[in-house]
Formats: sequence, structure tokens, C-alpha cells
Amino acid sequence: MFKPQMIAENVKNIQENIKTACIAAGRSPESVTLIAVSKTFNYNGIQEVIETGVFDIGENYVQEIVEKRQKIPDERIRWHFIGHLQSNKVKYIAEWVDLIHSVDNVNVAVEIQKRGAQLDRVVDVLVEVNTSGEASKFGVKPEETLELIQKISLHPNLRIKGLMTVGPFLPDPGQSRPAFQTLKRVFDEVNRAGIVQNPLVHLSMGMTHDFTVAIEEGSTMVRIGTAIFGSRKKFTSN
Ligand SMILES: *Cc1c(COP(=O)(O)O)cnc(C)c1O
Repeated sequence: MFKPQMIAENVKNIQENIKTACIAAGRSPESVTLIAVSKTFNYNGIQEVIETGVFDIGENYVQEIVEKRQKIPDERIRWHFIGHLQSNKVKYIAEWVDLIHSVDNVNVAVEIQKRGAQLDRVVDVLVEVNTSGEASKFGVKPEETLELIQKISLHPNLRIKGLMTVGPFLPDPGQSRPAFQTLKRVFDEVNRAGIVQNPLVHLSMGMTHDFTVAIEEGSTMVRIGTAIFGSRKKFTSN
């Protein structure tokens, strides 16, 4: 387990690395948001991150994000849902979630629209694209992304802010580059096609082992877990 003061140090290191990568890519460091991915870690870890001034928190599981928000009712936190989202779980987060990164089918979009309308709230979302072609990964295929966005952009209570992807987990982070380039290409296609009311602005791509490559390829949101909190325990029954 990482000690609290280590979390602060880790955040600082990551911020430095983000800044360096941005400058190298000729980008402003403010153009990339650091999302601290706290899945499987407890409240204390999130508290430590907040104390460093990072308020973007990412979680993968509905039950976990709901519990953590109840335990840490800090209005400054922006809650990002980054895991696979089942339609029947949308109701638990629709009222307060700041950004859902993982919309990849019409059904979940319809449910978000329904809950958003009931709450009189516009829910911000990203469309998750499977850029690596790995069967184990969620996300719409790149070549089907335009069509999906065309369908779901008609919903007034769901606002598509951009695209998200998970790179392939290969030894060399440079091997994620084609996946990130694919996401950027689809992003540009969507904006050129004029099928969204407001142009897409976000590319959520890059994790602990490949975020500098993602920044080179235009990422605006990096989702970092391990490099902040340490390695996660595997969920094995013992
Ligand atoms: C767990 C997770 C992350 C963070 O991964 P690390 O490699 O620990 O930084 C980012 N995005 C998604 C979708 C995740 O599930």
C-alpha cells in the first residue's frame, strides 16, 4: 500500500510528466485534465488526492462510485464514470455524475436520455471506441462510431462531449499510438460531418503506462490509477 504522503508525491510527479509531454508536443499543459482513477482504493486515498488540488475522480463500478460519493460529499469533486455501464445502472448515477466516458450503444444512451429528462438534467457523455480491435474490450467499432453518434445525438438530455478509448496493453507504450491516432481520426470525422450540435472537444485517452504517447496524439483527459495509488489488488477469491 502507498502511504498518503506518497500519493501527493505521485500526483506531483504525474503533473510534471503531463506538463513535460505537453510542452514537447507544443501544447498548453492546461489542455490536459488529470483524472485520478481510484477504483478499488478507499476514501483516504481520494481524500489525499483532493488535498493536492486534483478534483477529477474516475471510477469503474457503479456501486463503488455511489458509495464513495456518499462517503465524500465534497462539492468540488467531478465524478467520472469510466467503466462499462449497463442500462439498468444508469439510474444510480444520472443525477450527479459529471461525465460518463463509456457510452457505446443505443440502449444505454436511451436510458441516459430517459433519466436525464426525468431529472431535467443534461448528462455529459463520451462515446467509447474500441480502437485496438481486442475482443475483450468494450466500445463501438471505429467504422460504426459515426452512425452511433448520429443516432444518439438526437437526445436533448445527453450531450456528447467527445470520445474515449483504452489502448492495447502492450509492453511498449508506443504500441498504443495507432489506437490513439484512430480515436483522433474518428473525432475529426465526426466534427467534419457536422452531426453533433456542438463540436466534440474531448479525447479521453492514456493511462499509467501510455499517457505521454496519448498526449502526443491529442489527449485532453488522461485517466491515471496505478501511478497515483499503486498497483491494485487482483480480485481473486481466497
Ligand atoms: C483502471 C482504468 C484506468 C487506470 O489505469 P492505470 O493503468 O492504473 O492507470 C483508466 N481507464 C480505465 C477505463 C480503467 O479501467
